[in-house]
Amino acid sequence: MKRFIPDMYQKSIYEMDYKALKKKRIRLLLFDLDNTCVGYHEKYPTNEMKKLFKKLEKMGFTVIIFSNAPKKRLIPFQELGVICHHSSMKPFSYHFKKVMAKYQFKREEVCIIGDQLFTDIRGGNKAGIVTCLVDPLTEEDFIFTKIFRAMEGFVFAKFFRQDILKKGRYYE
Ligand SMILES: [Mg+2]
Repeated sequence: MKRFIPDMYQKSIYEMDYKALKKKRIRLLLFDLDNTCVGYHEKYPTNEMKKLFKKLEKMGFTVIIFSNAPKKRLIPFQELGVICHHSSMKPFSYHFKKVMAKYQFKREEVCIIGDQLFTDIRGGNKAGIVTCLVDPLTEEDFIFTKIFRAMEGFVFAKFFRQDILKKGRYYE
């Protein structure tokens, strides 16, 4: 079960303390796209997302949209000027390792931020990087995600009983 525990838990990517991540010497941010940056039905980057990514760039972070979605889904997000990595196959660690090697970052310099325990957090923990869970932006999910959500419910229930992770009790 430990593999599902995030290092950090925040309400959303729009309400996070990125200075704290800088202090932890994080240099590369991997963002899940669906329900982390935008809702599942949002086809284009929102103004809020544009603003945040600009800010992060100014702060000196390298930003990668690291999504399991196919290339087609990520094309409209290329206008943000960040690296868009599609078909990432989270929770497998293969693509995590691939981008770290390609852009030359060490594990301890990388943080994945995402809304799913079974893909984003599990994958990040497997890859040995810092993991941050956020609450999903919307209730709507991709069909396969719905299955993960159901399983996630059991993990959350177990963590709740063990007082490890509670919905809405954020930590850094
Ligand atoms: Mg997601």
